[in-house]
Amino acid sequence: MTSKILHSFLDENITELKDRGLYNEIDPVEGANGPIINIDNKKLINLSSNNYLGLVTDDRLKKVAKEAVDSYGVGAGAVRTINGTLDLHIELEEKLADFKGTEAVISYQSGFNCNMAAISAVMDKNDAILSDALNHASIIDGCRLSKAKIIPFEHSDMDDLRQKAKEAVDSGNYNKIMVITDGVFSMDGDIAKLPEIVEIAEEFDLISYVDDAHGSGVLGKGAGTVKHFGLQDKVDFQMGTLSKAIGVIGGYVAGKANLIDWLKVRSRPFLFSTAVSPADAAASTKAIELLLESTELNERLWENANYLKSGLEKLGFDIGKSETPITPCIIGDEKETQAFSKRLYEEGVYAKSIVFPTVPKGTGRVRNMPTAAHTKEMLDTTISVYKKVGKEMGII
Ligand code: PMP
Repeated sequence: MTSKILHSFLDENITELKDRGLYNEIDPVEGANGPIINIDNKKLINLSSNNYLGLVTDDRLKKVAKEAVDSYGVGAGAVRTINGTLDLHIELEEKLADFKGTEAVISYQSGFNCNMAAISAVMDKNDAILSDALNHASIIDGCRLSKAKIIPFEHSDMDDLRQKAKEAVDSGNYNKIMVITDGVFSMDGDIAKLPEIVEIAEEFDLISYVDDAHGSGVLGKGAGTVKHFGLQDKVDFQMGTLSKAIGVIGGYVAGKANLIDWLKVRSRPFLFSTAVSPADAAASTKAIELLLESTELNERLWENANYLKSGLEKLGFDIGKSETPITPCIIGDEKETQAFSKRLYEEGVYAKSIVFPTVPKGTGRVRNMPTAAHTKEMLDTTISVYKKVGKEMGII
């Protein structure tokens, strides 16, 4: 017999979430996650993926992935430290080091486990971590796993960061202190104030860690948020993911050689979990090569993003403080946000609602992720659907 306590816990809590409009329904995508997707036999303009540069379906990536399957098979066969380090993993890490302009790179199976791995390999219970209040869940979990004292600072509030850094240093309680931030905040699309963060880090000798999941491929002509601000030599950890602009899967940290050496001997997902498949590694390497060769996809992404953002703003939607292609339309109430997203869906636009607990209560939004692969016609259709549904629901 299975646990009665478990079942009543699950049933009560799921019902409560549904009643409060906080239960996230999952819609399987039938086919590729490109600019047009099929869900439930319906063709939709897709504004919900992280496929910033359209590389998910790029023929050049598909070709090398197929070749890798033919030559290497479908899996890496063992963890990296036994004999699961393929030359393809090394090539990927070397290419990423070129891309980020650092001495070395270590790659992981995902962005999420990269944060869990890297933070907890360096920080411990005698340390403290100053963490932006809006940091991604994987940063929060990585910090918790490390057992360091977590000291949140108000989102992008540099006075608060400076004061908390000073207090932490003056307390004399900690061996090491880290400051950690998203490069681009994924729910609002604003950019971290990295020049000030780096300055504070230098003043108090903090370890600096930037999660650039949404900045890589997007800012700094593709090289990321750190490059965008010209701070390549001033950030200790440049973390990134291969699942968004790069279009594949995996995560990585770029930094100095001794940091990467340490992560290779101390980060547990590297030591105890098998790496990405040969096809993934080959496709990611190809993507990085393409970004090193040309900024064309990055330029197209920005052109499309600016077009959509100005179209929605002109209609009177509140797109918050986005400085990047991430384009939230902030509705507020959770149920109204979900109803708005549902009406967009009925009209052929897939823009997912994002509500508490992913964002604070009362700030529900429909988040639009324009990509390099959208056509102007798709964006025009999107804008006219927003106009129709926005007026119908009294939002604009
Ligand atoms: N960091 C940030 C800021 C993210 O937005 C995400 C993905 N939502 C991750 C890390 C995790 O990346 P991945 O999907 O590659 O695990």
